[in-house]
Amino acid sequence: MAIRTRLTLWYSGILAATLLLFGVAVYEIISYTLYENQREQLAKVEQIAETQISFVALETQGGTVLYPQMHELTDFRYAGYVMQLYKIDENKVYPLGKLQGPLSQLMTAHIVTDRNAFIKMKDLNGEDFYLYNKHLSYQYGDTPIQLVLQVGVSVNGISQGMKHLLYWLMLIAFLVIVIAASIGLFLSRKAFKPIEDVIESANLIQIDTDLGRRIDYVGPPDEIGRLTTTINGMLSRIQTMYGVLEESNRTQRRFVSDASHELRTPLTTIRGNVDLLQKVWSQPSDRGESPASTMSEDEVKELSLDAMKDISGEAERMSRMVNDLLSLARADAGQMIVKEPVELAPLVEEVVRNAERLPRHAEWRIGNLEPLHGVHVWGNADSLTQLLFILIENAFKYTPDGWVLIDTALVPGQVGIRVQDTGIGLDNEEIPHVFDRFYRADPSRGATAGTGLGLSIAKWIIDDHGGSIEVVSRKDEGSAFVIWLPIHGRIQGFEE
Ligand code: ADP
Repeated sequence: MAIRTRLTLWYSGILAATLLLFGVAVYEIISYTLYENQREQLAKVEQIAETQISFVALETQGGTVLYPQMHELTDFRYAGYVMQLYKIDENKVYPLGKLQGPLSQLMTAHIVTDRNAFIKMKDLNGEDFYLYNKHLSYQYGDTPIQLVLQVGVSVNGISQGMKHLLYWLMLIAFLVIVIAASIGLFLSRKAFKPIEDVIESANLIQIDTDLGRRIDYVGPPDEIGRLTTTINGMLSRIQTMYGVLEESNRTQRRFVSDASHELRTPLTTIRGNVDLLQKVWSQPSDRGESPASTMSEDEVKELSLDAMKDISGEAERMSRMVNDLLSLARADAGQMIVKEPVELAPLVEEVVRNAERLPRHAEWRIGNLEPLHGVHVWGNADSLTQLLFILIENAFKYTPDGWVLIDTALVPGQVGIRVQDTGIGLDNEEIPHVFDRFYRADPSRGATAGTGLGLSIAKWIIDDHGGSIEVVSRKDEGSAFVIWLPIHGRIQGFEE
C-alpha cells in the first residue's frame, strides 16, 4: 500500500475515533442534562401534588375506611403530568384526574413500595415515559397510612430530540471524515508528487547510460528539495569518479599498448640482427676460414660487430625501459618512496661531478650551488639523484650545441634546483604533455634515443616528495626545468 494511502487511512481513523469520542461525550452530556432536568421537574410536581392529598373517613360495616383524595392540579404547568395514589395496606390504586385505565394499570405494574424511585419505561404508545414513585406516610388518628404517590410524564420529546441529535452527530461525523479523507488524500498526493518525480527521474537515470542526467526539481528547499540536491550532488560525484576511473582506464590501456609497442621495437631490431648474424655465419665457406662466401673476413667481422653493437644497444634500451616501467608500476600500485632527512649539497655536487661524464655536445656549466649548503629535505637520496639525472640527461640529449646550466635558489620554506639548456626547446602545446608516459615531442622521435618515460618518473618522484616542477621553454631557444622541494631543516650558520 502506498505511503500516502496509509497516511490518509491513519489520520482518517484517528479523526473518526476523535469524532466518535467527542460525539459520545456530547450526546451523553446533553442526554444526562435533559433527563436530569426532567427528573427534577417531576420531583417538584410531586412535591406540590403531595400537599394536595387529604383523607375522607367513611363508616362501613367492616369499620372506618380512609379514602385518600387529592385536588387536581389544574395549572397549565402541570398539563401532561398524570398521577395516582396507591394505598399499600389495601393494595389499592386511586387514579387521579384524567388518568385512564390502561395507563393506570401500566403505572401500577411499576409501583415501588419500599423507596422513592425514578423509573424509565414505555407508555401505551411504546414511547419513553418517566415515572416517579414517592413513598408517603400519614397518621390518621391512631391509624398509620402508607401511600405511594406515582407521578408520570412522557419524555418522548426528549427521546426524539436525542434521536435527532444522534442522527445529526453521525451525519456530520461521516461528512467530516469523508471530506477530511478526500482533502487528506489530495494533499498527500500533492505532497508526494515531488517524491514521485524524484523516483521517476532516478529510474530514468538507472536505465539510462547518461550519467549527466539530473533530477529536475522546482520547489522550495524543503526536505524533498534537499533530498533532490543531495541525490544530484551524489550523481555529480559518481559522474566525476566515473570520469576519473574511465580516464585512468584509458591511460592504463594506452600505457599497456604503448609499452608493448615500445618493447617490440628493440626486440625486432635484436631479432633482425640475430637473423643476419645467423645467415652470415651459416653460409658455406670457400676457404673454410670465412663464414661468408661473398664477403671478406674483415667485412664479416665488421658486420658482426655492428650487429652485436645494435643488439647490445637495444638490449640496454630495453632493460632501461623495463626498469622505468617497473618504477612506474610501483608508483601506480601506491608504493611510497622510503624517506629520511637528506642533505642536498653533497648529493647535488656528486650528481654535478658525474654528469661531466655523460655523453653530450653542450658545455656543462655549474651555476650557484651556495644556497644548498646546510639544506636538508625529507626524501630519498637515490630517487633525488635519479630525478636530477633525468633532467640533466634530457638537457644534454636535446641540446646539440650551446650549454647546459645547473643552479639553485632558496625561497621561504622551499629550495629550487634549475636545469637550463639552450637546446631545441618545446612548443607551448607540447609542454603540458612532457610528463605523460611515452610522450615524446615530435622532433625527439627518431632523432634521439629515449622512451618517453623519464619525465613521468621525475614527476612521480617530485610528487612523492611533496614538491613541484616548473617548465619554461621556447622552441629552438631552450628549456628550463625547475624543481621545488620543501625544506625539512637547515643546519645553523646557513641563513635563508
Ligand atoms: P625521453 O626518453 O624521450 O627523453 P622524457 O619523458 O624524459 O622521455 O621526455 C619526454 C619528452 O619531453 C622528450 O621526448 C622531449 O621531446 C621532451 N623534452 C624533455 N626534456 C627536454 C629538454 N630539455 N629540451 C627539449 N625537449 C625536452
